Amino acid sequence: MFTISNFIGGNICNPISGHYLDNFEPATGKVYSLIPDSDHNDVAVAVEAAQKAFPYWSSLSIETRSVWLIKLADKIEEHLEQFAEAESKDNGKPITLARTMDIPRAVSNFKFFAHAITQFHSESHHMEGVGINYTLRQPIGVVGCISPWNLPLYLLTWKIAPALAAGNTVVAKPSEITPYTAFLLSKVCQEINFPAGVLNFVHGLGPKVGESICVHPSVKAISFTGGTSTGKRIASVAAPMFKKLSLELGGKNPNIIFADCDYEEMLATSVRSSFANQGQICLCGSRIFVERPLYEKFKTDFVARVSKLQVGDPMDNNTKTGAVVSEAHMNKVLSYIELAKAEGGTVITGGERANVPDRCAEGWFINPTVIEGLAYNCRTNQEEIFGPIVTIMPFDTEEEVLMYANSTDYGLAATLWTQNLSRAHRMAEKLASGIVWVNCWLVRDLRTPFGGVKNSGVGREGGMEALHFFTEAKNICISY
Ligand code: NAD
Repeated sequence: MFTISNFIGGNICNPISGHYLDNFEPATGKVYSLIPDSDHNDVAVAVEAAQKAFPYWSSLSIETRSVWLIKLADKIEEHLEQFAEAESKDNGKPITLARTMDIPRAVSNFKFFAHAITQFHSESHHMEGVGINYTLRQPIGVVGCISPWNLPLYLLTWKIAPALAAGNTVVAKPSEITPYTAFLLSKVCQEINFPAGVLNFVHGLGPKVGESICVHPSVKAISFTGGTSTGKRIASVAAPMFKKLSLELGGKNPNIIFADCDYEEMLATSVRSSFANQGQICLCGSRIFVERPLYEKFKTDFVARVSKLQVGDPMDNNTKTGAVVSEAHMNKVLSYIELAKAEGGTVITGGERANVPDRCAEGWFINPTVIEGLAYNCRTNQEEIFGPIVTIMPFDTEEEVLMYANSTDYGLAATLWTQNLSRAHRMAEKLASGIVWVNCWLVRDLRTPFGGVKNSGVGREGGMEALHFFTEAKNICISY
């Protein structure tokens, strides 16, 4: 048992109240550490530290800030195994996934924005015979970064890196369910003598810590990733204070498979896009639509592969499916399986809690589950479940599947499998979604805009979009 601490003004520190929360290991269902149960008082101190650091950090040259971000990246890379173990223990994800995806991506996030900021250019607009405009892009000040539990360090650094690169100082709140790697990052900051107060972590509950960040008058922008209902709450408190808001929210993504696809590639990728990280990636395709001539073959082959996914101890290198993140989340996911049955669905594989022996006997595991026979508009096919559950259903025409795909309140990502180029373009244009992958999934170029439409969010992250979000544009017009 050990204690996670806040990181404020360059110091590892206890919550002012002295109160702590239990932190569980999903694979065992047992408490393994304590985290600060911080509140508005800790947030106030963190914001003060960030305000104090802002003049120094924002006046550093771009090259110097870039070097600091590279140093952070290098140190995470140096401690990659320790970070991967921490992420796996805290979240329940297979250690191989943390080692090959989560932590390397956190390193890439810092490196990418360290380089991107050196290429960030300002615009000028010439008015012939009248004058010239040029637009400065200035850091905002203190910004708040609030992140979820599914990709803890990956998504936290996806916000922190551009915010810092652009010259802001940060008060960050990692998910209270997965605080461990953010704590390790604060230790890395200490190890490299990262300037005090530039990056601060306040741990604790969303309504106490997260909301205190959102309502603090000196925090001028909020970058949030999490559930749609939390996003709605944040918008309701931050919008009347005229804060800049970036909201990356839930999804219910379609995976559309035409009979002319590259079958093997589609099949292997669809297993991954359905169940990677126990289906707890906002980009996972949870509704699989298959063109009717291929439906029975797909069903047989897909179920055969899914039933072989090894559910096991996340720390085991052979484990493909680890634990879901919490007992409450496990119960929510299981309740959706019951709902699916009540709505007339048939579970064709999985459908229950998985028993993993020995140290994981009390852990929160669910067998990867495939359900068929449901209508496109039932609750199971409309609401975000965010677990190892997919539904499959046949379709006959492009128009029909577009209607199914676009029928939810969400619009984050869609995947499309076809060898017909015209159809790929035609469908991609019409899908109500911020991201469309054609014949691939989760292929990420960090320069591209990332985000959703409808209830999946407001604004875009990634590349120059993120640097635009974390800066204020100031136009200067000079008359001849
Ligand atoms: P969540 O909304 O419960 O929590 C996210 C973060 O917000 C946590 O740090 C939490 O403590 C904090 N929070 C909670 N209440 C708050 C409040 N009132 N004010 C301020 N902060 C508050 O989400 P979660 O369960 O951690 O994550 C799962 C959700 O995240 C899913 O809906 C998933 O789709 C979504 N997600 C979206 C993306 C994306 O890029 N669009 C990426 C990953 C996850």
